[in-house]
Amino acid sequence: MSHSTLLQVDDLVKSYGGLRATDHASLSVLTGEIHALIGPNGAGKTTLIQLISGALAPSAGRIEFDGMDITRMPMHARVAHGLARSFQITSIFHRLSVLDNLALAVLAHAGHSLNFWRPARRDAERYALAAEVAQRVGLGLHVHRLGGALSHGEQRQLELGLALATRPKLLLLDEPMAGMGPDESERMLSLLQSLRGETTLLLVEHDMNAVFRLADRISTLVAGRVIACGTPQEIRQNPEVRLAYLGDDEEATA
Ligand code: ATP
Repeated sequence: MSHSTLLQVDDLVKSYGGLRATDHASLSVLTGEIHALIGPNGAGKTTLIQLISGALAPSAGRIEFDGMDITRMPMHARVAHGLARSFQITSIFHRLSVLDNLALAVLAHAGHSLNFWRPARRDAERYALAAEVAQRVGLGLHVHRLGGALSHGEQRQLELGLALATRPKLLLLDEPMAGMGPDESERMLSLLQSLRGETTLLLVEHDMNAVFRLADRISTLVAGRVIACGTPQEIRQNPEVRLAYLGDDEEATA
């Protein structure tokens, strides 16, 4: 794993009147790592992810991605530069097949780059890539099923595929295990683990068991500020984190 910084967030503030949803939050994500953002309810996790994706504009601070200042770059331009977001908005077409859903995502991305392939060749290429992504997210045997006929867990796998089809450098994931049963969660967990080193991930997740198994590094947000960043081991042992978030009990250290 390379240790270059892919995303650097400095002193990000988002104010709503007198309330600061993020309050000088700073964070760095290294190329290739799985980075988790944790914190109690209302700590500002969703706000921070929205500021990074471009869904919200910050009141102050700076965001640098892949060497570029993207603080004021619109969301679609961030996506074109390789910053994708999954899971917040369900983007599956229910009446299209898994393969067609993925082929559309590939097409949407290709629209951003010039190429000179003939249309027929382009189409074959697109579907080959869609099939590859379906395989990648564990839907290789389900390519001809309709999006709407998939189980909840399979739909989340497809959503992950839609994001991966754009070949992102950094993928933002908002609660990838939300609403899943134990088996589905486990499948998503190993899927995300299999992306390690291939795609850099920044995820918000409430399932602490999953976070501690998955993340290379964890940042802890409390009242809009990142109070600690470190390996799962370091975060478990950090007294401030234990006090503010995990609860200073034996369960948190198990
Ligand atoms: P949760 O874990 O419950 O999803 P969170 O860590 O994602 O919480 P945010 O949703 O980012 O926290 O909210 C941070 C704070 O900002 C909260 O106090 C919230 O009430 C407030 N907030 C968020 N969005 C707005 C808004 N549009 N207008 C006013 N206040 C907001």
